[in-house]
Amino acid sequence: MKHPGNLWSIINQQLTAFMSAQSTCEWCLGGLDSSQRFLCHSCQQQLPHNLLACSQCAEPAAVADMRRCGRCQRRPPAFEYASTAFTYEAPIDRWVLRCKDQHSLHWHDRLNQLTRSHFAPPAVMPDAVTFIPSSRYKRLRRGFNLSESLAASVALCIDRPLLSLFQLQAQQDQRGLSVAQRHANLQHSLQCLPPSALPDVSEFGHILVVDDIMTSGATMHRAAQLLKQRGVKLVGCWALARATKSRPAT
Ligand SMILES: [Zn+2]
Ligand SMILES: [Zn+2]
Repeated sequence: MKHPGNLWSIINQQLTAFMSAQSTCEWCLGGLDSSQRFLCHSCQQQLPHNLLACSQCAEPAAVADMRRCGRCQRRPPAFEYASTAFTYEAPIDRWVLRCKDQHSLHWHDRLNQLTRSHFAPPAVMPDAVTFIPSSRYKRLRRGFNLSESLAASVALCIDRPLLSLFQLQAQQDQRGLSVAQRHANLQHSLQCLPPSALPDVSEFGHILVVDDIMTSGATMHRAAQLLKQRGVKLVGCWALARATKSRPAT
């Protein structure tokens, strides 16, 4: 008689094969051909792409010819440019929450697929890619840091090294905080790794920082400040999605 563990292993393999061989579109339930992973071509086009946005902070723009928003012109952030693939609206918001709050590796893989297919390299190629860390508690609970894996996908797309540079010292969650509260929280929580673990970042003149969701830009601003204090000349930011005034990240 076979060990029950073998039976579970077979069921698990069959289930994984079934999940990866999805034949209907996740969004419209229409049919998929063999070249499509989980979205049909029509739904790919209808995703909320963040095409019209401020070139510095990626905030969605109301007019097509705007280069930098008024806020960036009055008080520029410490990073030079930012872009995101999408705005944080349906269905992207639901998929990110499923990935993070339900600890879904299935959705984790799909968001990485979206990153590899929708990442647009910046005009000037960065020397290295890094990411915003998550707290140790969240990483243990989820089993992954979404920002880190998205950054790995980005680094693969542009063939650049992926660096781990930051750590979170405070445990307070950024979600639900006002812009001022986020700045205050981050001023103390986001830090560079200790000198013994930190590579010489001044070797990299231009670093791209990756996060899953860009909300106010406060996290990226703090990351860029830290990198520039250590000799980095140019900092760019990329995120999967940008929160909007009508749909802030919760
Ligand atoms: Zn579809
Ligand atoms: Zn801006």
